[in-house]
Amino acid sequence: MKERIAEIICVGTELLMGETVNTNATEIARELSRLGIPLYHSVVVGDNPARLKAALKSAYERAEIVLLTGGLGPTYDDLTMETVADFFGRKLVLHEESLAAIRQYFEKAGRMMAPSNEKQALLPEGGIVLPNPNGTAPGCILEDGERVAVVLPGPPREMRPMLRDQVAPYLGRGNGVIRSHELHFYGIGESELEYKLGDLMKNALNPTVAPYAKPGDVMLRVTASAGTAEEAERQMAPVMNKLRDKLKDYYYATDLPDLQTAVVRALHEKGLTAATAESCTGGLVAELLTEVPGASGVFGCGMVAYQNEIKEQLLGVPGELLKAYGAVSAETAARMAEAIREKSGADIGVGVTGNAGPAASEGKPVGLVYVAVSSSAYTHVSRLNIRRQDEDSRALIRRLAALKALNLILRAAQAAPPTEH
Ligand code: ATP
Ligand code: MG
Repeated sequence: MKERIAEIICVGTELLMGETVNTNATEIARELSRLGIPLYHSVVVGDNPARLKAALKSAYERAEIVLLTGGLGPTYDDLTMETVADFFGRKLVLHEESLAAIRQYFEKAGRMMAPSNEKQALLPEGGIVLPNPNGTAPGCILEDGERVAVVLPGPPREMRPMLRDQVAPYLGRGNGVIRSHELHFYGIGESELEYKLGDLMKNALNPTVAPYAKPGDVMLRVTASAGTAEEAERQMAPVMNKLRDKLKDYYYATDLPDLQTAVVRALHEKGLTAATAESCTGGLVAELLTEVPGASGVFGCGMVAYQNEIKEQLLGVPGELLKAYGAVSAETAARMAEAIREKSGADIGVGVTGNAGPAASEGKPVGLVYVAVSSSAYTHVSRLNIRRQDEDSRALIRRLAALKALNLILRAAQAAPPTEH
């Protein structure tokens, strides 16, 4: 099958003015990459039919599939559907089912439907209608020989499910199937990872291996395209095993959204609980853990012990220890982890103390953080020295420290033998 190229057009003057962040473009681009459909151009255009038409014209000079978002609303400046229909030489016709769905949407919400909302049920003749369970405006797919237009609503909470549940399966068909898995690694940079993998990554065509890096997390997406799902899985399995094996010191999970989910899951699996005592992260470790549904079963207590008096009086870090080594020290971090574990009765305790800036204190530089973990088997302290200094450095230091803490909990949980509670 001929390789089809996609292009994105996001419609909205508010995007051009910088009032709205163009998250739709990001999400559509991700979905296309997941589907293995190449994307070379992504365009933003204001609410203006002439300029939208010009954008469509140049898009179809480069691509076969154009995905549009925004401008499906009921108001006079929402002109995307009309403009695309006109571009394809199609009339707009009333789609009764969509009109009924819009009526129902307002009824359910207990709101009056304005006459202008009826306009949202006017759809291009011969189009494939994409129902919108999360809003009023349906989307639409128009096909015309080689050319395809996918018109989606602007609000991300309406666009996202439509893209995932209706558009992705539509775009994916005919190419056989595309399957992918995400391998997550912690504690290795993207460039180091590329170096370690070398040709394994660069030369991979099917399955492909592509890295995605965020602070503290590197993900490799392995994607295979094949006739059937089973065949795709068969192609990916040996590649994934090789990747996990080559990077076993850093690997932590497959197909999980993030480190905190991996931690909560591992604690559940081992029947363990964790507790946190945080200074410079101010509760961020607890915040990340409690983002995960089901955290209450494995996380009972998080304490923010920010000032020295609190570390001493409430948490129980001895004053002499604080005086001798300072609040930012391996000794204090270790004691914080042990103390919170003892006080809360958790199986694993974590202590985080460091200097997130803006200035050195106790003679300790900005970016120096100690993260400790304490379990029945051991107490371990990691020292972080985060040297990036810019306007975001405080947030970065806190985030990397929190991720380190999560990683230490994960390692402690993985090291523990299975227990029955
Ligand atoms: P509505 O029915 O709400 O008018 P619409 O399909 O006409 O929806 P727009 O009017 O273009 O869409 O945008 C509605 C809202 O959706 C905007 O206020 C904005 O918050 C959000 N939005 C639009 N386009 C994008 C985009 N590309 N990325 C993120 N958010 C967007
Ligand atoms: Mg609108």
